[in-house]
Amino acid sequence: MTTIAFIGLGNMGGPMAVNLLKAGHGITAYDLSDAAMTAAGEAGATPATSAGEAVTGADTVISMLPASQHVESLYLGADGLLQSIARGSLVIDCSTIAPASSRKVAAAAAELGLEFIDAPVSGGTAGATAGTLTFIVGGEAGALERARPLLEIMGQNIFHAGAAGAGQAAKIANNMLLAIHMIGTSEALSLGAANGLDPKVLSEIMRNSSGGNWSLEKYNPWPGVMEAAPASRDYSGGFGSALMLKDLGLAAEAAMATGSAIPLGELARNLYTLHCAESGGLDFSSIVGMFRHDD
Ligand code: NAD
Repeated sequence: MTTIAFIGLGNMGGPMAVNLLKAGHGITAYDLSDAAMTAAGEAGATPATSAGEAVTGADTVISMLPASQHVESLYLGADGLLQSIARGSLVIDCSTIAPASSRKVAAAAAELGLEFIDAPVSGGTAGATAGTLTFIVGGEAGALERARPLLEIMGQNIFHAGAAGAGQAAKIANNMLLAIHMIGTSEALSLGAANGLDPKVLSEIMRNSSGGNWSLEKYNPWPGVMEAAPASRDYSGGFGSALMLKDLGLAAEAAMATGSAIPLGELARNLYTLHCAESGGLDFSSIVGMFRHDD
């Protein structure tokens, strides 16, 4: 049994921790949110009153936080958490953040004799609950092998993208594509509905035609088409629009740093900027509301 400190038990971290608990691992949990702490306690985790307390006695630390600034302020600095983690421990950061931030934390961890991987995930909250996430890992191969048994409990596919930060670079490219096909899917469904089609019927047609994509397969943005999708529960839970906007900002930064053209990625970022001004707290599939004029 591995003793795990789990920090950040929100929409994704919560169900990921539950799967580790179900597999028999002990977890000490810490989150800033009382609701997240209560849910973790009910699932069998030991609540900690601070991140420092959570890592005491742990040989593995897993974090699942919103953005770069949260990860950097947790781990780095004179009072940063890395200082409190026992030498030789493994740190797995599953948050989606800037590759440069991951590399910074990885370098600081190495100086303190810790193993660190960036391991952002794909698969959404449904994948986190079912234990079928895809992990996209950056870091040393040896650290990934050490993490693998835990990643296999929480996920189905594990890819080694390359050195520190490479997991983030791959994840950012993936999420830019996700935003683009979610917007395209929303646009197509809205066009069909405005022309008298039943969105459920149109979804089935496109899913089995050349327009098929993950948003249609697993995450239909139209309410009532897919019972388990956030669209069918008023866009609650899921993957917040503000988090998607953050990822599109990371894609824009990566594009500027390398002189890459991402015209559709930039358009997606602009559309999510407008959308978030109204609906940042809703799941990212709520962008369909920009195109619908049937209600
Ligand atoms: P969330 O907002 O639901 O959860 C984040 C949690 O971190 C919150 O409970 C918050 O209280 C906690 N937190 C923030 N700062 C903290 C700190 N210093 N110490 C302890 N806890 C802290 O977000 P989420 O949807 O779980 O996403 C987490 C990460 O996973 C993000 O980087 C996101 O981009 C990525 N991601 C999300 C999804 C998804 O479908 N939701 C899918 C893939 C990747």
